[in-house]
Amino acid sequence: MSDLFPAAPVARIPLADGSGQFPVRRVYCVGRNFADHAREMGAAAPASATERGQPVFFMKPADAITIGGSVPYPPATHELHHEVELVVALGKDAPTGVLAREAASALVFGFAVGLDLTRRDLQAAAKAQGLPWDTGKSFDHCAPVGAMRRKQELPALDTLQISLHINGQIRQHGHLADLIWDVADILVELSRLYALKAGDLIFMGTPAGVAALQPGDHWQAAISDSNGQVWLQSHGRICR
Ligand code: MN
Repeated sequence: MSDLFPAAPVARIPLADGSGQFPVRRVYCVGRNFADHAREMGAAAPASATERGQPVFFMKPADAITIGGSVPYPPATHELHHEVELVVALGKDAPTGVLAREAASALVFGFAVGLDLTRRDLQAAAKAQGLPWDTGKSFDHCAPVGAMRRKQELPALDTLQISLHINGQIRQHGHLADLIWDVADILVELSRLYALKAGDLIFMGTPAGVAALQPGDHWQAAISDSNGQVWLQSHGRICR
């Protein structure tokens, strides 16, 4: 039998070197993965790795991936927040079962930097009632990302910094070494819940400094080293 209408195309993220594009399957996100951001959201931050409990996961629709450029201000909110995040891209299907750290790391194809755009007013209202966050976190164009690089092109992640400038002013900054759960940790935990596959993305959580965006704002997200060399970037504008 033939399709009743053309299947929607999958989102694709270009490689920075122009050698190909990454077709997106699923988008997993981690909440509260930097202690300073957990505290600013009113949550308790773990005092040590042994007290960190379980990571908070949620998902975004794969067709919400937007490649920089222009992002329309979403409907039904007066509080669109930016959360700058490391984005992990998987290039292989996971074997069945719970992954070991080494097997988890072997799934990683590369990295990008992106924004976990959030309708904070809707998320806060849902949280206050103990309801799911979906309308706050999952909406059209809620996941802009920049070009991807293969993991072997990048320095060790724990030497890198993540930052977000809005209209040229610094809003968020953090060190990837300060992630509560690192990339292997998160993939191990996800493997307890889902069959990870090539094409999956993981937004790794944001450092402190989340705040509102307005129509017309220009964002510049970067992952850079201590010498200021930018390894991953994304930029674009919020439009009406
Ligand atoms: Mn986030």
